[in-house]
Amino acid sequence: MKTSIIGYPRIGRLRELKFASEKYFRSEISAADLEQTAKEIRLYNLELQKKSGLDYIPSNDFSFYDGVLDTAFLLNAVPERYTALGLSTLDTYFAAARGYQGEKGDVKALAMKKWYNTNYHYMVPEIDDSTVIKLAGSKPFELFKEALESGVVTKPVVIGAYTFLKLARYTGKKRAVDFVEAAAAAYSEMLNRFSELGAEWVQFDEPSLVMDMTDEDIKLFDALYEKILADKQDVKVLVQTYFGDVRDCYNDICELDFDGVGLDFTEGKKTLDLIKADGFPKGKALFAGVVNGKNIWRNNYADTVSVINEIKKHAENIVLNTSCSLLHVPCALSNEVKLPESYKKHFAFAEEKLEELAQLRTILSSHSPNETAEYKDNAALHSEPRIGSDSAVKERTTALTDRDFIRLPSFEEREKIQKARFKLPLFPTTTIGSFPQTADVKAARTALRKGELSAEDYEKFISKKIADCVALQEEIGLDVLVHGEFERNDMVEYFGECLDGFIFTDKAWVQSYGTRCVKPPVVWGDILRNKPITVKWSTYAQSLTSKPMKGMLTGPVTILNWSFPREDISLKESALQIALAIREEVLDLEANGISIIQVDEAALREKLPLRRSDWKEDYLDWAIPAFRLVHSGVRPETQIHTHMCYSEFADIIKDIDDMDADVITFEASRSDLTILDVLKNNNFRTEVGPGVYDIHSPRIPSKAEIQETIRKMTERIPVSKLWINPDCGLKTRGTEETVPSLKNLVAAAKEARYENS
Ligand code: GLN
Ligand code: ZN
Repeated sequence: MKTSIIGYPRIGRLRELKFASEKYFRSEISAADLEQTAKEIRLYNLELQKKSGLDYIPSNDFSFYDGVLDTAFLLNAVPERYTALGLSTLDTYFAAARGYQGEKGDVKALAMKKWYNTNYHYMVPEIDDSTVIKLAGSKPFELFKEALESGVVTKPVVIGAYTFLKLARYTGKKRAVDFVEAAAAAYSEMLNRFSELGAEWVQFDEPSLVMDMTDEDIKLFDALYEKILADKQDVKVLVQTYFGDVRDCYNDICELDFDGVGLDFTEGKKTLDLIKADGFPKGKALFAGVVNGKNIWRNNYADTVSVINEIKKHAENIVLNTSCSLLHVPCALSNEVKLPESYKKHFAFAEEKLEELAQLRTILSSHSPNETAEYKDNAALHSEPRIGSDSAVKERTTALTDRDFIRLPSFEEREKIQKARFKLPLFPTTTIGSFPQTADVKAARTALRKGELSAEDYEKFISKKIADCVALQEEIGLDVLVHGEFERNDMVEYFGECLDGFIFTDKAWVQSYGTRCVKPPVVWGDILRNKPITVKWSTYAQSLTSKPMKGMLTGPVTILNWSFPREDISLKESALQIALAIREEVLDLEANGISIIQVDEAALREKLPLRRSDWKEDYLDWAIPAFRLVHSGVRPETQIHTHMCYSEFADIIKDIDDMDADVITFEASRSDLTILDVLKNNNFRTEVGPGVYDIHSPRIPSKAEIQETIRKMTERIPVSKLWINPDCGLKTRGTEETVPSLKNLVAAAKEARYENS
């Protein structure tokens, strides 16, 4: 049995590529310096993979920014606005990735989108009627040759034709089908080039095959590959799927002339069933994704061996593989010097996953797998009682009844009670929570961490920031105030640090997009809140004003979605545990006089399953109840807000209403307010603050502009339900743009009140 991986993190063990790229962007190093760093990262990864004994080592999984963008350049699908700048190839590439503003012109970047159900983002290729798809780039060939010089015949990895055409945005009349001939010709030529260079296998990544596919999609896939594979020379082609199962096109995949098929046995709920029901074609290699490429827990060898034994009944040639690219996990556990071994031994980052594949190969090649040392050690590890498991927490989640998920009285009654209590004007104004995290705030946090500032002085500093922030909001004339969130570095990390059950890494970075990386906390054990988290700051802020002060919390689904989740209990179970912890905080805030509490669910939509048919059962049926559990215990006169960082919820609009918050704020300003029609057509019940200006840009919106936006909103939303606020938190903005923007917002709301009274 052989081993393979789909791809490897390219940002570098200590984010070397990030730092070099950022230096290059600031013109502090040359293109040659950047290329050199990139090469060092690639060769380091190559050596590591070679040493681990990996049989199929990938190449071209490296990227300066994003693999989809690389493919667009490879296929000549680069909008003219970038090539017209007349920059070097590398700079044209970065212009498409990040936008360009300089002496040669001013162009925005390509759009960026979430990569399936991960926290990685890809650049959306743009194709217009004049786009001529053809093999234009040489990067995959150069990287193949580079590895060859180090003595490794790699398996080049390219985003497949189907996925590429599905992900592209078509700005003219032509659609994907109109590019079949050209794309197929480019991919065929690519195969021939690889064959000439001496490649044995080429991997085409086709994650779009795990999405719901229409008949047209299947036709497109068939048409492309019938052509691409028609005159392939002596190079073998692996079609690699991941992030789910290929239930809609399994037969097509089997019938096409692929030499290898990569299937995901980790996230693909039905993958094994497909093979059991329909068999697996003789003579093809099955690349079985059994090592999770998305999470950081040690593989359970007993489970994997039993899956492989099942697969063996149907396939002769099995290659042990990761479930997806290792891009989605951190590089090396050895970077974690502070984390005790008792935790670390349960984790496998990218480097350790290479080792797992090698061990699994040893185990599975043995006549008695269960007797191998590797198997036994692993079994012992997995049988250890979990540290951090707490029977009291389990009892609390099992004791939950339907009543715990229902807030009484009904929304309509609460709305009346709250209107009477708060007596807010029409179009109440508020913000999403954070105020600019200015240099002094960051410096104070760093000083505290380094021990240069005492805890006491840090608290004094934060108190002063809060007092200034409250005074500023009063001066601006906002109706519902916030404390500003100066004590938080990050909306998930802050709560994770204050709850039992989470652990944090030092250097376990994962690429989110381009040079941006995130360091997700790990849900290690059962979640428990053993002391109030925000009560002190919120009550202090409330003491400074007679206006309502919003308490500010992060919701359970967002906390979970931005962490590495446990695998020994379900996501639902973890979400309920976190929800119970946040619920205690909500009740504590209420008991301490906080009358409005916002529970942010910025990432609620993020883990929505890829297939619509799985939405309810696999996700919404526990995610929405988890949110309801957080606030079902508050009194009718306490107002619950929530916030979401996007407005693409047309397709889950009922579920959002079902969260039963009193008010929701979200980001509608960037999406041309199209969501407003959806709200109207669905009789959206929750009061809404659709966000009257875009905080992601430094522009200051004028009063007239905001008035116009409010006017459009009032055409679709009953005035009694409309809130006026920016579209997200202000932490990334400067004070100089925030203050005038908010002043214009308040002035516009006042005008709107006048017009509507
Ligand atoms: N309350 C948070 C803030 O204002 C919300 C951030 C977010 O939506 N990502 O920063
Ligand atoms: Zn937001």
